[in-house]
Amino acid sequence: NALTNVLKIEGLKVAYGGIQAVKGIDLEVNEGELVTLIGANGAGKTTTLKAITGTLPNCKVDGHIHYLGKAIKGSHSFDLVKTKLAMVPEGRGVFTRMSIYENLLMGAYVRDDKAGIAADVDKWFSVFPRLKERAAQMAGTLSGGEQQMLAMARALMSHPKLLLLDEPSMGLSPIMVEKIFEVIRTVSAQGITILLVEQNAKLALQAAHRGYVMDSGLVTMNGDAKAMLDDPKVKAAYLGEG
Ligand code: ATP
Repeated sequence: NALTNVLKIEGLKVAYGGIQAVKGIDLEVNEGELVTLIGANGAGKTTTLKAITGTLPNCKVDGHIHYLGKAIKGSHSFDLVKTKLAMVPEGRGVFTRMSIYENLLMGAYVRDDKAGIAADVDKWFSVFPRLKERAAQMAGTLSGGEQQMLAMARALMSHPKLLLLDEPSMGLSPIMVEKIFEVIRTVSAQGITILLVEQNAKLALQAAHRGYVMDSGLVTMNGDAKAMLDDPKVKAAYLGEG
């Protein structure tokens, strides 16, 4: 079939000193897919994302990570920005003393197509109307949910070929969580390829095409997201049902 691999992970292992946080996992994301990686606290989800972005100093990383067909394990994260891999980390990391507008421009710093950048600011302001209303406001004055939206919009300004989202719903009110997932669906519907790490398994599987479950450093289940929502084991362990 015509599926194009954007990300392919094979046999990934990560150890922090004596602690084996990731114990040999396979995972792939195809072009245009929204794939979610779910699992309990400490399962190794964030560590997996950090392995992809090459932000695991002083760790033993084994296995293979291919991004757009190229091996990237050990690549410096700055180079990954140029290759259009964007990560929105847990805790967001917006530039609090810059305006919302300036934050968006920072997301486009590797681009030099002025007209395209302006068009993208308009595009993402229409997806994130809350940000448009507050364009001149300092990012540090935004609510947690608004900062999450800004971090996503900023990442999208880099025209990512793969967008990595680490627990975007973390610490947000239920209404804001719904809004964030609405935005994730909208972004995915634009054809952007997304790997979403989430503890909110239900919302993540409802939004995703495919899902992976991680438990104690291993992938214990994977498949079609809708099928996983109906799986009795997933229901009992991750959805608080059954
Ligand atoms: P969470 O949802 O809590 O972030 P997670 O699934 O993302 O969980 P990781 O953050 O990847 O899990 O952590 C996996 C394991 O690795 C945990 O046991 C954690 O304590 C350990 N770990 C993470 N970072 C480090 C570190 N810098 N040094 C030592 N151990 C670490």
